[in-house]
Amino acid sequence: MSVLSKLQPRLRRNLAISLVSVLASSVSLGAFETPVATPKVKTADLSVRWQPTIPTNGSPIIFRVTSPLRLASLSGKWLGHEVFFALDSNRKVWYGFAGASLETRPGKYALELNGMTSSNKEISFERQITIGKGHYHSIVASVPKQYTEPNPEQLHKIGEDKTVKEHAFAQVSPEREWAGSFRPPVKAQISDVFGTKRTFNGKVQSVHQGLDYAVPEGTPVAAVNAGTVLLAQPLFFEGNCVVLDHGQGLLTLYMHLSKFDVKEGEHVATGQTIGVSGGTGRATGPHLHVAVRWQGVYLNPATLLSLKMPGSSSVRLVGSGTRTGR
Ligand SMILES: [Zn+2]
Repeated sequence: MSVLSKLQPRLRRNLAISLVSVLASSVSLGAFETPVATPKVKTADLSVRWQPTIPTNGSPIIFRVTSPLRLASLSGKWLGHEVFFALDSNRKVWYGFAGASLETRPGKYALELNGMTSSNKEISFERQITIGKGHYHSIVASVPKQYTEPNPEQLHKIGEDKTVKEHAFAQVSPEREWAGSFRPPVKAQISDVFGTKRTFNGKVQSVHQGLDYAVPEGTPVAAVNAGTVLLAQPLFFEGNCVVLDHGQGLLTLYMHLSKFDVKEGEHVATGQTIGVSGGTGRATGPHLHVAVRWQGVYLNPATLLSLKMPGSSSVRLVGSGTRTGR
């Protein structure tokens, strides 16, 4: 394929790339979050652990909180977002899903926790968490103009899709639906990773907001975890696209499908087939693009898939609420 032959040599093994992010997204440079300076005094002795061990910019983060006092509710604030916690009553542990955007600078940031005890007392706690620097690649590619310069009719469809997506994303549920470890949507070679900076035709720049699997058309695609189908529609860039809402602000997106196997509103189990791979939408060939979105922030799907959660064979969470800083 002419497009691929012009990619840099080390990326020539890619079977197909997605042009989803060429025009659909841009990196906000004005929204840097800056590290906080001094930790506050704790008012409750909560234990806070998290995965991955050292989150970086672009990482999903799962917080695990335990309390010596019985709590009726718990919520958190992290990098300007609310973190929704759910109690795993078997283990008496509160789990919350969060992340750090690609634009987050390395440094220490505070997770602020606020809870209500079963005897109606408010408690609060703050924990400093270090965000490291993720390592991401850059590529230079040449693609036909049709991919970077849509015609007026296509611009109209792109505008309509924007409304559809905004409507879907506004309906995200805070209730946790995911459970246990996340599993890969297909068993296949990865053809492009998350966070790759792409320069197309010498000028159009974008950041790859997902993970690409090199799958031919016709491969069943599985839900990475339990959730509700928020969207199952054909879109201009994404092609036939399924969006799953896993609760706690977490969504997963599956693009360029040739066929849908689920309907909007349907609940799906971990590993359930949601569709079949393809090359629909703005893609140079068949492949699966998977994205992870948390409260408007795109996160690294490979990191999410590497986290070991209760319900799977090994559980290892790090960090300790008895110290500040790491
Ligand atoms: Zn992709």
